[in-house]
Amino acid sequence: MKYIIDPHTHTIACNHAFSTLEENVQSAKQKGIELLCYTEHGPRMPYAPPDWYYEGLSLIPSDKFSVALIIGIEANILDENGSLDSFELPEHWFNFVIASMHKHTYQPYRPCEDTEALLAVLDNRNVDMLGHIDAPFFHIDYEPVIKKAAENNTLIEFNNASVHGVRKGGIGNMRQMATFCKKHDCMVALSSDAHICHNVGNFDDVLKILQEERFPQELIINTDINRFLAFLRENGKKV
Ligand SMILES: [Zn+2]
Ligand SMILES: [Zn+2]
Repeated sequence: MKYIIDPHTHTIACNHAFSTLEENVQSAKQKGIELLCYTEHGPRMPYAPPDWYYEGLSLIPSDKFSVALIIGIEANILDENGSLDSFELPEHWFNFVIASMHKHTYQPYRPCEDTEALLAVLDNRNVDMLGHIDAPFFHIDYEPVIKKAAENNTLIEFNNASVHGVRKGGIGNMRQMATFCKKHDCMVALSSDAHICHNVGNFDDVLKILQEERFPQELIINTDINRFLAFLRENGKKV
């Protein structure tokens, strides 16, 4: 099976990644990725670009690159009410919205608030994917979150960078996520979360976990561009 969509990547613009958009595109092309989402961190991430950078993103001619390009954002979940820092920017600038909890921008007072925050985020129909909820430093009750994600047309991410990077330690959580996604027919996306071009299109580690869990192929969205675009249109995106 070919996995031809990478829905989560970063560039030098966030100040903690190391490649340009063009370098990511070239790497994607070499690896057989046919659709790339550029999803820079939201404005509350320390050292994120200024507001007018995001406005500039909306002016990028996405059809001029050698792979299909979708401009999105990795919004920061800010609190237990599900507030996102992308609320500060016009929705129509982004055609793929990931909502993620990061230690730098989300500090809950009580562990149970992590689940409340994700359930609140899922009320926002503009969110297309929950990012790296495997992170071992949060305390998430996976079943209600995944059940609601399935009901609200929101993808659950299996983030390859989680396996080795700063969120290392969440493989057990990924196995739980796989179990509940199977149970509730929740669509998932494999992602590289690449912070350097060489990692674009790398899904091998999460794919291995899903294969070990005998995860159904039809719940993985990365294989069919038309299906991915139809999914986004269902969430109101103009793609
Ligand atoms: Zn993230
Ligand atoms: Zn990311």
